[in-house]
Amino acid sequence: MRAWRFHGTNDMRLDEVPDLEVQPGGLLVKVAVTQPSVTEVIRARGEETLESDYIRKAIAERAPVQLLGHEFAGEVVEVGEGVTGYRTGDRVASGRSRLPCYRCELCLSGLSDYCRKGPSVGRQLPGCFAEYVSLPAEVFVRLPTEVTDSEGACIQALTGCVDAVHTAELKMGDTVAVFGQGAMGLAVMQVARASGAGHVIAIDVRDDVLDLSRQLGANDTVNAKESDPVQRVLELTRGRGADVVFESAGGSTRQGLAGATTLRQAIRVTRDAGTLVQVAMFDGPVELDLNQFRAKALRFLFPAPTNRKLMEYSVRLIATDQVRLKPTITHIFRSLEKLPEAFEVTANKSQYKAINPAQVVL
Ligand SMILES: [Zn+2]
Repeated sequence: MRAWRFHGTNDMRLDEVPDLEVQPGGLLVKVAVTQPSVTEVIRARGEETLESDYIRKAIAERAPVQLLGHEFAGEVVEVGEGVTGYRTGDRVASGRSRLPCYRCELCLSGLSDYCRKGPSVGRQLPGCFAEYVSLPAEVFVRLPTEVTDSEGACIQALTGCVDAVHTAELKMGDTVAVFGQGAMGLAVMQVARASGAGHVIAIDVRDDVLDLSRQLGANDTVNAKESDPVQRVLELTRGRGADVVFESAGGSTRQGLAGATTLRQAIRVTRDAGTLVQVAMFDGPVELDLNQFRAKALRFLFPAPTNRKLMEYSVRLIATDQVRLKPTITHIFRSLEKLPEAFEVTANKSQYKAINPAQVVL
């Protein structure tokens, strides 16, 4: 089969590699649609982000090596020994990339969903920038006919958004503010809406994206280039602030993202004793005044790892149109050879007016 392998940092080549075999407890899946995540694009270039070190070290020690690629949908071609609930021909998508180790204290205490010690797809386990993947069955969720392969390839990212809303412990009728209306922010906004939010405020700097936010369910939008987002959110909440705030605008300033500016704004618009969930990743340490959190008694949280129930909820949200992803999927390349083009668009989304990462249909 063919697979993209790293021969060096920023040096990916489409190579002929040995065919994969199904493993006990696993599925052999023919990849139909895949997409790089923004974080993967940064890692491929050898730049700094969460866990970049692992990729640099793997390339230095194991090149040519198959790395990255954890967002995909495809079709089961072989079911491994001991796997129940799947048949050849089933359509599946990846719902999680990190697997439990089944040996640590958490795993042995029945809390394996929280284990951070197991292998990950695209690191220890070869990923989906290839014609086939052979991975443990726990990675997958089944796709109903209502969900396309293209939407299926987004499920892992959507699951991250569902985890963020689940972590926030959103209450029915809560006022929610979402900073950033990229792929993650738009999905968080829709999941919050579907999960009981009473009033949703979306904040971004792009008018066309904010139009889409309103179409997808935001009650109010704030263009942070035209007005002070802190002041506007406080006005919209009659001075109280939002019950729950999601920060999904920040991240690498090298990629034109907001850095920690939006996080500082998010702290100010979270109501006293409210909840702030950090969805975006940063490219390095961030300077913050922690006294602000104490003074307001804020809960500052990061999305907890996913679980089977939340992965299946993500699929249902798409199948029932409660979360609409199609309007965000703007760039689709046809054939595995085009993966570098998908990386280019995903690395420069604002330049290409892309929202979701660019996809590759095999
Ligand atoms: Zn474990």
